[in-house]
Amino acid sequence: MKEDILVYGLKKADSLRQQYQANFINPYKTLENCLGGISELGGFAMDFELGKEQKDIKQAARDFAIGEFTDVAREYDLNETLPREIMSKARKLGFIGLFIPEEYGGPGFGFLEQALVLEEFWRVDPGISQQLCSITFGAEELLLFGTEPQKKKYLPPFFEGEAIMGFAITEPDAGSDTASAATKAIKDGNEYVINGTKAMIGNGSAGTFMLVYCLTNPEEKSKTGRHSIVIVETDRKGYEANRMEGKMGLRCSDTAMVYLTDVRVPLENLLGKEGNGFIQLMHFFDRSRAYVSAHGVGLAQGALDMAVKHAKTRTQFGQPIGAFQATQFKIADMATKIETARTIAYKAAWLLDRGRPDPKLTAMAKMYACHVAVEVVDEALQIHGGYGYFNDQDIERFYRAAKVLEIYEGTKEVEKIVIAREVLGKFR
Ligand SMILES: Cc1cc2nc3c(=O)[nH]c(=O)nc-3n(C[C@H](O)[C@H](O)[C@H](O)COP(=O)(O)OP(=O)(O)OC[C@H]3O[C@@H](n4cnc5c(N)ncnc54)[C@H](O)[C@@H]3O)c2cc1C
Repeated sequence: MKEDILVYGLKKADSLRQQYQANFINPYKTLENCLGGISELGGFAMDFELGKEQKDIKQAARDFAIGEFTDVAREYDLNETLPREIMSKARKLGFIGLFIPEEYGGPGFGFLEQALVLEEFWRVDPGISQQLCSITFGAEELLLFGTEPQKKKYLPPFFEGEAIMGFAITEPDAGSDTASAATKAIKDGNEYVINGTKAMIGNGSAGTFMLVYCLTNPEEKSKTGRHSIVIVETDRKGYEANRMEGKMGLRCSDTAMVYLTDVRVPLENLLGKEGNGFIQLMHFFDRSRAYVSAHGVGLAQGALDMAVKHAKTRTQFGQPIGAFQATQFKIADMATKIETARTIAYKAAWLLDRGRPDPKLTAMAKMYACHVAVEVVDEALQIHGGYGYFNDQDIERFYRAAKVLEIYEGTKEVEKIVIAREVLGKFR
């Protein structure tokens, strides 16, 4: 394992980590708790450079993705198989759950480092990357609202074992309108009994445990005070999942229908406060959307890389198509959009690492970067001409993968609602 680590270099940063943690804020500590060392506290704050460790981490993620994804990505996508071997390697090398503190077995970095890794992963293959990043999907919520025993129980197995989690929110009749979720968790003695159906759930069939968003207080007047989040191990009686095959993109990642029939969990599996689930969910999105913006940046950059390569090598009318100004303008627009998206995505993650989540900025980053991904991949395929329409070209897989970024973890319309509400204020 040590050799592997040296190959990919991520843990080269190990010795620097202590120094890093002394100087940077852990996202789960408050500003006041942290030691100094942040430039903004010094008074001359603006700095767009990544630190040396961050560059090392980004490079290590790129090396890992190129080394592990490139040759197998197409097969995994075609066959819709989970990339289990790559998942194991990524776990061992510290490429998952970078934001999880060392006290819970994690690498102990921050949201920005997580975003850098995801950006480089998505740049090489969106499908494998989706499955890798979703291993810990919801762990942010556990860190924010979990009790100490819950964190000690559920987080270390990501690194010491084979744990995979998911966050089951969406239902057949409750998508964007999460406050109308109807999966019930009813108290019976010292247990919750859960009944309901969840749709399109990442790791629904591959996961070892789920955070399940449940209706616990239907009589509550406010729609935002009716739900709670409950931890459900997937080997409990009454938990069933059917993998949903035939996804347009990200086909090697697990997405499933989840059926909960009289699933009993102890009351201590409640995450946070009863009736506070909706608020807790919004706090989760304020964090997770920063990562999705990094997915968009990575996918768009990968598409641009391919477009540039093709523009330099494809010749028509006696010259490379990159020599036509029409192609150059496309490339210039794509590069500019990606750089803008990257800046806002990094800023969203950077703010999280300073304990200052900004729901408006995070929603902007998610909406913008994901829209850029869709636009850029469209132009990149255009530059590939007809060849880009066949699945032996990676751009075809990227094209299919991009669209979902504007749908999950808040559709682009939902992001606009969040942004507009912050800018305009509430009308009711
Ligand atoms: C690959 C994949 C993975 C997923 N993983 C997960 C997961 O792990 N966990 C999970 O819980 N869910 C997951 N989802 C579900 C995803 O979060 C939902 O698809 C998404 O929230 C939208 O809900 P919906 O599909 O029901 O669309 P709907 O909410 O029905 O929306 C349909 C359209 O109406 C628009 N719309 C809805 N309300 C408004 C409004 N008020 N104003 C303007 N427009 C509106 C939407 O923006 C959208 O364009 C996943 C989905 C996919 C495709």
